[in-house]
Amino acid sequence: MKLIFLGPPGAGKGTLAVRAVDVVKVPHISTGNIFRAAIAARSELGLKVKAIIDAGKLVDDETTIALVRERLAQDDAENGYILDGFPRTIPQAEALAGFSAVDKVVNFDLPDAVVLERLGGRRTCRNCGANFHILFGKPKQDGVCDSCGGELYIRDDDREQAIAKRLEVYREQTAPLIDYYRKKGLLVDVDAGPAPDAVLENFRKSLKL
Ligand code: AMP
Repeated sequence: MKLIFLGPPGAGKGTLAVRAVDVVKVPHISTGNIFRAAIAARSELGLKVKAIIDAGKLVDDETTIALVRERLAQDDAENGYILDGFPRTIPQAEALAGFSAVDKVVNFDLPDAVVLERLGGRRTCRNCGANFHILFGKPKQDGVCDSCGGELYIRDDDREQAIAKRLEVYREQTAPLIDYYRKKGLLVDVDAGPAPDAVLENFRKSLKL
């Protein structure tokens, strides 16, 4: 099954994608995670995108599309994938349609006020990318990842100014994808407000999984 997870920053797409992998048995492909790994490795790509990402802006379409195209060509994505954080612009969606036929687009819906609250308290594992929250999803031990024992940190783009920028970018460039995919009959809305277990349940029901 080929799925896109759409929604504002902080809607829990990443957290849900990690859980949904067990249900749909396809790889979770997060462009944000790929970029952060490149930054950590100080690769050419990482050096190119670090300042853009830290500022809450979007990496250019050409770079992002090439990255996803290459990733989807790998063997593990042959039978499907969960794309988390891609596409984020109409040109990216159009490019994707040229090299892969998506089955469904899951739109994780969340009001702005909740987005701000969630992003402000997010803590991310430096090692595996898992997300926690200081109020809603605390790790068992402060500052330590439950999954791999890695160090938890605040992403530079989870700081106040970058959050505002990411929301603005989302509204202007990514939100139009909701209508774009609705018109194609591919969109499924899922309320991202409840706790992750309930959102996963809604996701399963909506997709009849
Ligand atoms: P995420 O982890 O999905 O919130 O992504 C973190 C950051 O990576 C975004 O704020 C962008 O700067 C960049 N990024 C991730 N996916 C894309 C994309 N599809 N297009 C452009 N930039 C992206």
